[in-house]
Amino acid sequence: MTTPAVGPFAGTSRLNAVRRTLELEALGDAPHVDLLVIGGGVTGAGVALDAASRGLRTVLVESRDLAFGTSRWSSKLVHGGLRYLASGRIKVARESAVERGVLMTRTAPHLIRALPQLVPLLPDLLRPGQGALIRAGFHAGDALRVSAGTPGALLPRMRRIDAARTRRLVPGVRTAGLRGALVAHDGQLVDDARLVVALARTAAQYGASVLTRVRAEEVTGGSARLVDTLTGRELAVRASAVVNATGVWAGEVDTSITLRPSRGTHVLVDAGMLGNPTAALTVPVPGSTSRFVFALPQQLGRVAIGLTDEDAPGPIPDEPQPTEAELTFLLDTVNAALATALTRADVRGAYAGLRPLIDTGGGSTADISREHAVLESPSGVVTVVGGKLTTYRRMAEDAVDAAVRLRRLPARTCWTARLPLVGAPGHRDSRPLPARGVPASLLARHGGAAHEVLAAGVSVGEPAAGGLAPVAEGLDVTRAEIAYAVTHEGALDVADVLDRRTRLGLVAQDAERARKAVEAILAEGQEG
Ligand SMILES: Cc1cc2nc3c(=O)[nH]c(=O)nc-3n(C[C@H](O)[C@H](O)[C@H](O)COP(=O)(O)OP(=O)(O)OC[C@H]3O[C@@H](n4cnc5c(N)ncnc54)[C@H](O)[C@@H]3O)c2cc1C
Repeated sequence: MTTPAVGPFAGTSRLNAVRRTLELEALGDAPHVDLLVIGGGVTGAGVALDAASRGLRTVLVESRDLAFGTSRWSSKLVHGGLRYLASGRIKVARESAVERGVLMTRTAPHLIRALPQLVPLLPDLLRPGQGALIRAGFHAGDALRVSAGTPGALLPRMRRIDAARTRRLVPGVRTAGLRGALVAHDGQLVDDARLVVALARTAAQYGASVLTRVRAEEVTGGSARLVDTLTGRELAVRASAVVNATGVWAGEVDTSITLRPSRGTHVLVDAGMLGNPTAALTVPVPGSTSRFVFALPQQLGRVAIGLTDEDAPGPIPDEPQPTEAELTFLLDTVNAALATALTRADVRGAYAGLRPLIDTGGGSTADISREHAVLESPSGVVTVVGGKLTTYRRMAEDAVDAAVRLRRLPARTCWTARLPLVGAPGHRDSRPLPARGVPASLLARHGGAAHEVLAAGVSVGEPAAGGLAPVAEGLDVTRAEIAYAVTHEGALDVADVLDRRTRLGLVAQDAERARKAVEAILAEGQEG
């Protein structure tokens, strides 16, 4: 067992261009590792953390950027698994509830809040008996939470609220005939890509090399050719075990894997259009008893309305695109519960992601199990696929357990359920949150690492109020956060900053307004 020392970065969670170069050089000098992880989404980053924290010499390669794939296109919910319970999939439902509790109490509570989700009781919205069904489902969700050991103080139990309270939580709700709402709670991430970055950085702190812009090719169970896409240089690496965590691209890395991707789309509107809701609005899809469209309040003053579930056969695009039909479906469905209908002109942005579902033959993609699988191919590659953001930790544990067993690796048992991520309370670099003067949004994105963000702002010449000026007028992201993305979070270019470290890129206008400042801070941060 080895924990590599990488000079100035040993034991730190900082990721940046200098560390990347040093780690690539070190790998060239000693190209044998215990575990090579391919893919820097939530699954791969989770695998890297699991393996490194068990003492394995671990290298993670990501062909683009952390959270480049599906992991940044989710609904950002940390699910209790209610939906799976409804379809009788008790094992996956319970696993989800347990992992939600782990995330919200120990590993990443700083990135997750309890989100009230309300179903408005409007006469023409629910079919006869549907209200009773939803109520029973919410009660079952409570039972699941209790069985997972998650306290009611963290996720309050379901209740019915009156019309006035419903309007306070979602002011844009239609009031004619409103009899109140049923409310249940689930977890909501401030941002999915931030979870991935926190995982990758924590893995790096435990000694993993996290290498973005490095593509794995010619992958076998014990080797791969790595291509540095910034320089074109190639490196042959040998590994005692190789884990393929490339999501919807898994079949490209290992041709024995067949997936059936399904597209999920969200549209973004200004939160003001729904009266700045503090709860999610849940609207049943007409004609279905189990499908809903959600209007989810987000950071940066937006509401995300999602989501669809569409078969998406064919080649895997870098960035899947929503269709007009999906946008229309989402707006039409949510409008049934709003006082003032949203129109196409209200849409500020839209995004789509592909679920990496395991191909189980015919039927609709909505019916395919969200359970994950760990598969060993004839070439010896261990692939971990399926699942979801919420269950990444369990997926990682199962994948590393399989690699350890198959290759007899000398690793301690998994302990990631007790391991706080960068920024979480209990992480060794976390500090109490500054009491005053720091935007709540910065604290929500960085938690106990906020003090490092402020220091990074100063280090790239953002002394005014510790770099707390917004990156552009009216945008809720500070200049210090941009600096921190470059010095600590592995952002290598403007797109990394706009599209993954911040989510300004979700609305093209916001991204354009911030671009110049980001370019300048990036140049300064990389010199520094
Ligand atoms: C619309 C939508 C909404 C969702 N909402 C939720 C939700 O609210 N809650 C929840 O828990 N789950 C949700 N999910 C599920 C969840 O987002 C996914 O299961 C999860 O993000 C998959 O992560 P991954 O790491 O396996 O794949 P990815 O995030 O796609 O990561 C794979 C990575 O591998 C890299 N890669 C590919 N090929 C190579 C190569 N040759 N070399 C190096 N790197 C390579 C890619 O660049 C990519 O970054 C949602 C999914 C979708 C589509």
